[in-house]
Amino acid sequence: MTEYDVIIVGAGPGGSVSAKFCAEAGLKTVFFERGRKPGEKNASGCGLGPRMWREFPEMMKRLTPDVAPNLRMASCVINHYLNKEMEEIAVEMYYPTASVTYEPAKKFITMNCYRSEFDPWISSLAVEAGAELRTSTLIKDLIKDDKGKTIGVQTDTGEKIFGKIIIGADGVISTVAIRSGLNPRWRPDQITLVPQYDFSAPPDIIDKMFGSDGLFRDAADGTWWGVTFPSAYQVIFGDGFHIGLGAWMGQWTSNPINFLNKLISSRPFQRMVKALNAKPREIQTHLLPWTQEPIKTYTDNVMLVGDAGGFPCPLEAEGVFPAMETGKLAAETAIKCIADGDTSKQGLKLYEEKWRKSSTGIEFSTGGETLQRLWKNLFFSVQSEKNNMEWFIPLYHEIRGGHFDWSEPHIIRMRQILETVRSYIPQAMPFFQKYVIPLISDVIEEDLNLLPLFIKLTEGLRPKKKK
Ligand SMILES: Cc1cc2nc3c(=O)[nH]c(=O)nc-3n(C[C@H](O)[C@H](O)[C@H](O)COP(=O)(O)OP(=O)(O)OC[C@H]3O[C@@H](n4cnc5c(N)ncnc54)[C@H](O)[C@@H]3O)c2cc1C
Repeated sequence: MTEYDVIIVGAGPGGSVSAKFCAEAGLKTVFFERGRKPGEKNASGCGLGPRMWREFPEMMKRLTPDVAPNLRMASCVINHYLNKEMEEIAVEMYYPTASVTYEPAKKFITMNCYRSEFDPWISSLAVEAGAELRTSTLIKDLIKDDKGKTIGVQTDTGEKIFGKIIIGADGVISTVAIRSGLNPRWRPDQITLVPQYDFSAPPDIIDKMFGSDGLFRDAADGTWWGVTFPSAYQVIFGDGFHIGLGAWMGQWTSNPINFLNKLISSRPFQRMVKALNAKPREIQTHLLPWTQEPIKTYTDNVMLVGDAGGFPCPLEAEGVFPAMETGKLAAETAIKCIADGDTSKQGLKLYEEKWRKSSTGIEFSTGGETLQRLWKNLFFSVQSEKNNMEWFIPLYHEIRGGHFDWSEPHIIRMRQILETVRSYIPQAMPFFQKYVIPLISDVIEEDLNLLPLFIKLTEGLRPKKKK
């Protein structure tokens, strides 16, 4: 019988950060990974957001091409808009805007990294701090005392390991969440299914296209918006890229792969594949929690971090940073509660107090729900009864691109554009009332300074009558 202070299930970003901070504080810490090495069981790669550098500066300084050779900076997002016929009707590129205040985020939107490089690196920091990593070990169950409180874990070979605190960092299908009773199962509206293709491409061609002197300077993130498929993301790495799309479990109207195949076989996508000389490498399907509110994340001797707790951002499902931040907060809670000798749910309540105030928690406070409702009913409405992309894509195209026409005098063109925009009002207005106005009122409620600004802006929009 082995006794640890802290047992962590999972060596992804959440588990590794928890293990690092617990071990640094001198707690006897073990973390378990079912894969032969961390990262083996995850999606191919991810875009890492600047909040990771903001909250973990010392750690992130060490994520360099030496440890992650295919790391690629994305300073720009390319947006592709496809119509019903799957023709590309608009392409936009966006670099960070003037209102960005965090200095490094003025230079990059994400740093793109394969999980096969990121997870071994981040878990090595925990090992370096003194945590014990046990790979190829599946945790199958929790051990409970006669009062039903969790006191340890059991592996698939029957080995029992005891600890004062168990941190569930075991991702979307979390044995710790299920067996502790914190989350016996996800509701279909809390979880998405995400199919994804991974492509290889010659690094020199990627550089030519997306390098700092490339045609699309430092663009390494892409989004594909369409009328017939839920919005898709593209992430470019040193020697390839992946493209995926997702939707909530209850929302799919046919096999998710069909939607992705439709995009991949479209002419615009195939043009890009050809230009990059890209070859399909792997097809993957993963689950990802995408909730309006995390689940209950603690009980006696147990805390849940990252995906296990439903922490990915309610808008864009960014999940690596929330896993790391909740991992750190769970570690801080464990350190304090073990020192105080109170690891009961009353003691561990501190964890929820901490994450609610954190950057991750703010995402779920006012606005999280309204943002996700808007997002869900627009870019992901393709499979719903009311497909809002049917009017949104042509409306957006008209507003942004309508003036690129020299076939008429400009004033006539303006009238044509306004007339077309007006024809979409019957569909757009109910949408704005239902989803956009509640969001604007949430934003204003959060920061009342914006109210006078909002009034002033709308005042300026009212036409002034000529005397
Ligand atoms: C297709 C896809 C693309 C994504 N892209 C991005 C992105 O670009 N940027 C971003 O920030 N987020 C992205 N995410 C979300 C992100 O991957 C997750 O939110 C993040 O990995 C959560 O970290 P975690 O540590 O909580 O869990 P995980 O990373 O899932 O780690 C859990 C670990 O626990 C192990 N494990 C599970 N069960 C057991 C067990 N019983 N015993 C032992 N070990 C176990 C697993 O093997 C795994 O290594 C994406 C997700 C998907 C599915």
